[in-house]
Amino acid sequence: DSYGHGTGDQLIRGVAAGLDVLIPQGAVLARIGGDEFAIAFLSDGENAAALQLAEQILDFLVEPLEIGRRVVVVGASIGIAMSPAGTIGREELVRRSDLAMYKAKEAGRARMTLYDPSMDADREQRNALELDLRMAIESGDLTLAYQPLIDAASYAPTGVEALVRWNRPGHGPISPEVFIPIAETSGLIESLGLFVLRKACETAKQWPELNVSVNVSPGQFRNPAFADYVRYVLKQTEVEAGRITLEITEGYMIQNPQRTRQSIERLKALGVKVALDDFGSGFSSIGYLRQFGFDRIKIDRSLVMGVNEDKRQREMLQATVALARSLDIPVTAEGIETEEQAIAMRLFGCDCLQGYLFGKPMTADLITEMLDA
Ligand code: C2E
Ligand code: CA
Ligand code: CA
Ligand code: CA
Repeated sequence: DSYGHGTGDQLIRGVAAGLDVLIPQGAVLARIGGDEFAIAFLSDGENAAALQLAEQILDFLVEPLEIGRRVVVVGASIGIAMSPAGTIGREELVRRSDLAMYKAKEAGRARMTLYDPSMDADREQRNALELDLRMAIESGDLTLAYQPLIDAASYAPTGVEALVRWNRPGHGPISPEVFIPIAETSGLIESLGLFVLRKACETAKQWPELNVSVNVSPGQFRNPAFADYVRYVLKQTEVEAGRITLEITEGYMIQNPQRTRQSIERLKALGVKVALDDFGSGFSSIGYLRQFGFDRIKIDRSLVMGVNEDKRQREMLQATVALARSLDIPVTAEGIETEEQAIAMRLFGCDCLQGYLFGKPMTADLITEMLDA
């Protein structure tokens, strides 16, 4: 995958020229399509030669490449499959290496993975899950749970966060942490995201006093038309834009600063608010944050958890909140489970709290009951 400037044939040729130098005598280098390459060669039947070559390729790609007048950074995910004594046909060999490549991709950038037969079973399970998820989205079988957001001073609810739920037939509830990434890689995220946004906006009308937060996944945010979707849904559901907060994750922002900035501008022009989710889980530097115009920052649960653990973690957390506050951006602490955590986070300057202590994600009806109580 290429990042930065320039993709296309010139880049592909440049990378191929570099790889050409690395591959052994008599090996075949082929471009399978798009940005995928295959290298085929004969070895002594051990994995070692293939692993070594894969490592050399990854090492080679660590350095930025000069192609034409451009400097590009290229990463690769490498899958390896063997055909002992030629027993595996060519097509099957390509299929296996492809499968292994996807495993390498899942593991993160610049990895290599050897094919093993359990990958086939994994793939089948995943395909089945993907199919069920597609049906669930089409037939509207996903639901939303709402978790209260609490004012740190008065402990009164000020808003809710919408969290998608899926009860997979025959399997029971599946965590969004499992199916959202699958929706991302299988082209389902757009329709899933649209469903969630529309449902959350519709439901928001029941609670004129509450702000409603909706999680937006990278695959949605990356779409240049995302703001148009949002405008459309706001118009369709006639909800006040200022009551909707879109949460995007720190991870996405770090990888795509330029695009994040543009998207945020467009969304803010519509009047919706934009929050930075999972803050502190990655590496955002604060200088960097300033330029984005976030309306709110949410401190990641993994940090909040440590608040009463040891002094170091407490200080880290305190510094993180202080940094966010130094930008005059209000801060929410998520994952509050104990009274001590609530007190500490409030002391550090969080104006909004969220967590099991105040309420688990619940049905819309229960939120209404809570407001009436
Ligand atoms: P998130 O946005 O960070 O959401 C908070 C997660 O922490 C939720 O898990 C919530 O149930 C859980 N949580 C809240 N308070 C506590 C607490 O006090 N203790 C503990 N242990 N957990 C707490 P959930 O609902 O399983 O969602 C997980 C993640 O899935 C979310 O993390 C979000 O990244 C993603 N997600 C959920 N719904 C959606 C959605 O509609 N769209 C997108 N794109 N992502 C979603
Ligand atoms: Ca690719
Ligand atoms: Ca969130
Ligand atoms: Ca979070």
